[in-house]
Amino acid sequence: MGMDRIAAGAIIDGKQFAAGLLEDITARVAKLKDATGEVPGLAVVLVGADPASAVYVGSKHRQTIAAGMNSFKHELPADATQDQLMALIDRLNVDPAVHGILVQLPLPAHLDANAVIQEINPDKDVDGFHISNAGRLATGQPALVPCTPLGCLMLLKDRLGANLSGLHAVVVGKSNIVGKPMAQLLLAENCTVTVAHSRTKNTPDLCRAADILIVAVGRPGLVRGDWIKPGAVVIDVGINRVETPEGKSRIVGDVAFEEARHAGAITPVPGGVGPMTIACLLSNTLTAFCRQHSISVD
Ligand code: NAP
Repeated sequence: MGMDRIAAGAIIDGKQFAAGLLEDITARVAKLKDATGEVPGLAVVLVGADPASAVYVGSKHRQTIAAGMNSFKHELPADATQDQLMALIDRLNVDPAVHGILVQLPLPAHLDANAVIQEINPDKDVDGFHISNAGRLATGQPALVPCTPLGCLMLLKDRLGANLSGLHAVVVGKSNIVGKPMAQLLLAENCTVTVAHSRTKNTPDLCRAADILIVAVGRPGLVRGDWIKPGAVVIDVGINRVETPEGKSRIVGDVAFEEARHAGAITPVPGGVGPMTIACLLSNTLTAFCRQHSISVD
């Protein structure tokens, strides 16, 4: 039995890594407070009462406070107008206590989410979704980088070392929030990058050539064991709720985890990429604060 399982050392513990990152952020916030008398402030905007969104916003609020930062929660009713939301963003853009702004998605259908995101001051866009940040990332300039791919890159470097140059990375999924910025980050690290998506004809073959395999699709168990090259590092971004035979539900990733015994390393779901996302949001808020104060980010 033991032989069949993924070796403990091959499992990338994102929960533990995120806890370490949060500790480091907390210590840096305390130092900045001593030096400047100020702490970073994160404004989170929630429109409507979607239960999952409310849980995410609550969790972001708690962790922001725990890191010693200011957290400003703005809750608008589900029937808020586009003008009301834009006016709130305009106020937050010029509020000196607010260094990061996050609008919890999805927004109710009558609102134009893209217009709201483009209204955010790019220097405060801690989700990294503004076209200005996407452009900066793509052209190698200092950007605020979307939290999930940023967390994936940190986990990769922790496992493989800082130098990823020349490795072949395959990214499955090309969304604006995960796949595309992930591909840009890996290009910036001088990886050879292949991006596969729903129209790609030979995805399993492409995956088999990957030293680094990042999967962000949203289909449970899409990537089978024989898509994975022995020794490859696999980052599973997927979060899928599935029914168990006992009629309960559990969260699984996009990779058939039990088949990935020959991977060099793999992130579990849950406990892999997920915990990194909020930690990276706070890291981005700290980065935004430092840049707005012309303080070195490191
Ligand atoms: P998305 O916007 O739905 O994008 C999914 C991507 O997968 C699309 O590019 C799509 O291709 C591609 N795709 C669909 N079916 C495919 C197939 N059979 N083979 C190859 N590619 C296929 O999703 P997302 O927002 O990027 O999220 C992806 C997953 O990551 C979801 O499970 C989500 O819950 C999870 N997620 C996790 C975190 C975290 O914190 N861990 C954060 C964000 C997202 P086309 O572009 O051609 O349609």
